Amino acid sequence: KELPADPTTENGRRKVMEACFSYVKPKATANPRMLHVSPEMLDELGLTATDAQSEAFVQVLSGNEIQPGTNPYAMCYGGHQFGNWAGQLGDGRAINLAEVEHEGKHWVLQLKGAGETPYSRTADGLAVLRSSIREYLCSEAMYHLEVPTTRALSLALTGDQVLRDALYDGNPEYEKGAIVCRVAPSFLRFGSYEIFAARRDAKTLRTLVDYTIKHHFPHLGEPSKETYLQFFKEVGQKSIDMVMHWQRVGFVHGVMNTDNMSILGQTIDYGPYGWLEGYDHGWTPNTTDFAQKRYRYGTQLQVALWNLNQLANALYPLIGQTEALEAALKELSDGLEPARLDMMKSKLGLFEADKNDAQLVEALETVLQRSETDMTIFFRNLADFKKDGTANGLSLIANAFYRPDEITGALEEEWKAWFMKYEDRLEQETKNEGERKAAMNGVNPKYVLRNYMAQLAIDAADNGDYSVLDELFDLLKLPYAEQPDNEKWFDKRPEWAKHKIGCSM
Ligand code: AMP
Ligand code: MG
Ligand code: MG
Repeated sequence: KELPADPTTENGRRKVMEACFSYVKPKATANPRMLHVSPEMLDELGLTATDAQSEAFVQVLSGNEIQPGTNPYAMCYGGHQFGNWAGQLGDGRAINLAEVEHEGKHWVLQLKGAGETPYSRTADGLAVLRSSIREYLCSEAMYHLEVPTTRALSLALTGDQVLRDALYDGNPEYEKGAIVCRVAPSFLRFGSYEIFAARRDAKTLRTLVDYTIKHHFPHLGEPSKETYLQFFKEVGQKSIDMVMHWQRVGFVHGVMNTDNMSILGQTIDYGPYGWLEGYDHGWTPNTTDFAQKRYRYGTQLQVALWNLNQLANALYPLIGQTEALEAALKELSDGLEPARLDMMKSKLGLFEADKNDAQLVEALETVLQRSETDMTIFFRNLADFKKDGTANGLSLIANAFYRPDEITGALEEEWKAWFMKYEDRLEQETKNEGERKAAMNGVNPKYVLRNYMAQLAIDAADNGDYSVLDELFDLLKLPYAEQPDNEKWFDKRPEWAKHKIGCSM
């Protein structure tokens, strides 16, 4: 019978039974150097810029020093990966350092890439600069986009070299090691509960669920079957709401395995994620998923539901009411289409009800996809549409097309027809043009972390130049604002970046 490992006596890779975590010490690093600190996150934690410049800060957030009175640990979880039960996974390269309370908020500080844990399986527990930059930039950008997400406090170089398979040619290569300090109220995932259900360990499952409710869903009250059912419903709704935000901003997670679904409905685990450029329901950034495309843009809501089915199965031993759980799942499922329609309507500046709205949206999505149209530029420019009977739409969105030469003939007619319907439909709205534009610009970001932008920051950083990282971090703090000095980032993906996609490892 195994219990949480004592880091002074046992830290080996193994199956951890009847325990939710293992104590573990981060690995000492050769020559840590802080590359970036999020001022917003610093502030949330009650820390100052002076704190962030201290030697203790870099030592602790690179794993070299442990704060007195803290007991770092890695969490045990399982998960369904690409539809199959994968057994124990766990924090193979993440270590929860400490918990911080500030102004009524509770935060867990977690180092990603700080060395092996009992859950590292065959991998090294480390992270490289390239993937760390991607997580660091994107998680803070998502926060500013108002998408529920885990956060990032800091990005540090370790000074160690890490061996990785190079992305494009498959040759092993040494890369710079890095550590991101991620922050969230909790890093519990669907897989944290699934593992105990799979092991028929209802006792530990109940302990974990009761803990979760007590600390993160206290309004649900004392543990009971009814409380557990409510817990499931709330997690379900939060998860769906989160994915609806992804759909709104064009974010594709890429690895929606149940071990990457936060129990708090926050975007977690920024691996091979990507942003839609051409609006395409079939697009995924994950090169390992190109055959099946399970986690493409157009399926993310359905996948969330599939994952919630797995969570329902995991909680079943505590709830035991098949019908109630099935009804809860059906309610979530029935809510998807109406909520998606509302979301799409908000992107179009439509707030009244019309029986043809679903058709209008569908017609738009069809012509958007036929034309390889940049999602971000299209919706942002549409806010300037004027109801003046001239159907001025096409010229307004001209620079959203990747292949403008092809917008002729039947395709051009399709676009014009759609703009005529849109103009007609706007007649039913009560907002004036200025109000509509403001509302649209509040849901349609102008600046997102396009895949090539992250790549530019990575390429510069590889050469020791962190200026692009700094620039993008600042740019993405105000994604909905006009930033006249930053218009160059409001542009289509350049041709060289077409087949370049980020990577997770
Ligand atoms: P992911 O695909 O990033 O969600 O990771 C799936 C599982 O693999 C998790 O249990 C991770 O902790 C583990 N993992 C990923 N990369 C590493 C690594 N470099 N070292 C150890 N474990 C890893
Ligand atoms: Mg993961
Ligand atoms: Mg990952």
